[in-house]
Formats: sequence, C-alpha cells, structure tokens
Amino acid sequence: MDYVCPACKSENIQRLSVIYEAGLSEINTTSSTSGIGGSCGSFGGGVASTSTTGISQTAASQRATPPEKQSYLKPLLAIYILHIVAQVFGPKFWGGHLFTYAWMAVSVLWVCFAFQYNKKTWPPLKAAWDDSYMCNRCNKIFVLIPTAT
Ligand SMILES: [Zn+2]
Repeated sequence: MDYVCPACKSENIQRLSVIYEAGLSEINTTSSTSGIGGSCGSFGGGVASTSTTGISQTAASQRATPPEKQSYLKPLLAIYILHIVAQVFGPKFWGGHLFTYAWMAVSVLWVCFAFQYNKKTWPPLKAAWDDSYMCNRCNKIFVLIPTAT
C-alpha cells in the first residue's frame, strides 16, 4: 500500500473503520484485566494503568466513530416531553391550541428533516467515512479515494 498521510507523509495510517472496531474490542479487554489487577492486591496500580489505556483507546475510537443516521423516536419523545412540561409548568398561553399545533408542526418538521438527512445527507458521509484514514503519527483524519493508477 503506497498511501501516505497528506500532512506528515507517514505511511503509518489506518482505516477509520479498523480503528473504531479495534477501540471497541480494546475497551472490553481492559475492563476484564482490571478485575485481575484487583484480585492480585495491586488494586491502585492495576486500575490506574488499565484506565489510562482504556481512555486513550476510547478517544481514538471515538474520533473514528462513523456518522450516525438521525433517529426518529428519541427526538420525538424529547419534543413530546418538552410539550408536556411546558403545558404543566409553563405560562398559561402555552397550554392553548396554538402550542399544540406548534408541537405537532415541530414533530412533523423533525420527521421530514430526519428522512431527508438519512436519505440524502447520510449516505455520502458514510461513504466518505469508509474511505477515511487516520494518521497514527499526527492523528490527522483524511479521505483517501482509491484511484486506479
Ligand atoms: Zn500524519
């Protein structure tokens, strides 16, 4: 592979998907080793060292997290709860029909936005993420589009 980092020309680059999945499995491994460290009596040292590796792995993995699709249910629930809270605790005029219509309008707008986002905005983001690499030397994230040369 003759791909290099565009910033520092390092060949030590990794696909984001690889970093992301490696980070996830690393978290599981470190959590199990912390238990062994505790039973060996070196509780403080064991926990300190494992938590450091866990955090650094998580940070790299978090930076490599793929773009997510917009969820429908959670924001709608949040809007609904806001609506209930506003009706119970808010000023009186918020309890009228106008506010109910506004709440319904916001919900419909959200569904439209999420639908458009998932259909049009998300696929190119995901495709770019699939072709994205992170440099292990300078931590730069960049897109490498495979070219037939
Ligand atoms: Zn680099």
